Amino acid sequence: MIVGGGTAGWMTALALARMGPPHAPHISLVESPDIGTVGVGEATLPTIRHFNRWAGIDERDFIRETQASFKLGIEFRDWREPGHSFFHGFGDHGPEIAGLSPYHQMIRLGLGDALDQFSLPAQAARAGRFAPPSDDAKSLAATYSYAYHFDASLYAAYLRRLAIGAGVAHVQGRIDHVARNPETGLIERLSLDDDRSIAGDLFVDCSGFRSLLLGGALDVPFEDWSHWLPADRAWAVPCAGTDAIEPYTRSMACTAGWRWRIPLQHRIGNGHVYASAFQDDQAALDALIDGLDGPPLAEPRHLRFRAGHRRRFWAGNCIAIGLSSGFLEPLESTSINLIERGISLLAQLFPTAGLDDVLAREYDRHMINAFAGIRDFVILHYRLGRRTEPFWQAMRAQPMPDSLADQIALFEASGEIAIRDPESFGEPSWAAILFGLGATPRAYHPLADREPADAIERHLARGRTLIAGHVATMPPHRQFIDALAAQ
Ligand code: FAD
Repeated sequence: MIVGGGTAGWMTALALARMGPPHAPHISLVESPDIGTVGVGEATLPTIRHFNRWAGIDERDFIRETQASFKLGIEFRDWREPGHSFFHGFGDHGPEIAGLSPYHQMIRLGLGDALDQFSLPAQAARAGRFAPPSDDAKSLAATYSYAYHFDASLYAAYLRRLAIGAGVAHVQGRIDHVARNPETGLIERLSLDDDRSIAGDLFVDCSGFRSLLLGGALDVPFEDWSHWLPADRAWAVPCAGTDAIEPYTRSMACTAGWRWRIPLQHRIGNGHVYASAFQDDQAALDALIDGLDGPPLAEPRHLRFRAGHRRRFWAGNCIAIGLSSGFLEPLESTSINLIERGISLLAQLFPTAGLDDVLAREYDRHMINAFAGIRDFVILHYRLGRRTEPFWQAMRAQPMPDSLADQIALFEASGEIAIRDPESFGEPSWAAILFGLGATPRAYHPLADREPADAIERHLARGRTLIAGHVATMPPHRQFIDALAAQ
């Protein structure tokens, strides 16, 4: 029994339905049309493509149905300081050099500020070009990946059609009571406000920020991280787009947070995430509207949230997936990635032989690690720049998780990048943000000095030329989408 028909609910429903018997004997999804969905998750990470493959989604169909565009990464504007820009691309910055990660040579040669030039997706994105990576692992064109931007409401509607087609029963109604067995504490049935009642044996709570089952009925406490990530509100509004569609998300640092710009085929999605302790709602809305590329296409939506997660993700016979389990601001587009991880773990640990708490503990362990890894990566963005507004000064002055403090200190002391959660962001991602924000390590690996500096410089220059040559062969993004849709 899946509770909620937002992105989390329909992704879960479709994926479980596709698992087939014996895992998916009877899947129902209940949602309330009156409550509606949050409807703002529009940028993803490359892992969405694994999910789509698993769910049997055809890429061309998906691009057409959801007005999607391709995403090669994120441009960060004004984060280090106003006027500065850097790119976090979905790809590496070249192979190892003499057995070391290329970053040691970048430090040695003072090339940290030129990092984007060694990233094929960053260069393609800035040129407005897109082509899928090559399958030939030895090719330069295999050194990157891509994700999508899509219209969240079209995506949910698309998933709904596929899930219902795959046998998921769709119940529309508002749940007003969750009944638990008085002895076991397990959830037994849901009562709807029209007196219907529905029973289930396993409940997936996809009810959004309400967390109706896990946070509500089961009262699992919330681990609050707002002292680390104080941004707690957002305005979101779509505006008219242009003919050229940039194949990347833009994130622009502002007075008390940041704005996003997500180009789709039919419009641009925009939003402003801010800390209400540092900026009032009207000023935040004005900053968003002032920065739009074109006229707004709808009334701006106001959203409130809190960083953190439920202490347990799986309790008894209830697993929370999506916003009901927790939230981290969408700076690196991680919420849908966390939904994918929840679904794939649930599939892996599916309780076919009955409920055993060991399954729940294993599930929790993975999800707690995933949230903590992403939390550290997101906080990193706020730690190293030089913006001077009170919000930014406060973000740099406050304590940070020990795990992140160690990662930053290690990089500064040695040029080494320690990765604790490679499933979300690997070494190239950390390098992009660390160098992009202007971190300057005091040392690099001593073995980097074995090769003469001019030989390394020639090698790196060749890499840059190859990237530029390859980018020139890629079609403009809009042209690629039109050609795909016409196939
Ligand atoms: P919701 O969309 O809120 O769905 C909840 C469902 O539960 C609804 O169907 C509702 O009807 C149902 N429900 C609730 N209560 C009841 C009840 N009593 N009875 C019956 N049904 C009920 N993620 C990304 O990956 N990338 C992004 O770029 C991104 N940007 C974001 C920007 C902002 C400002 C915010 C707040 C979030 C963003 N997210 C992003 C997160 C993303 O929007 C969510 O992860 C995603 O939409 C999943 O939401 P959900 O399905 O968990 O909840």
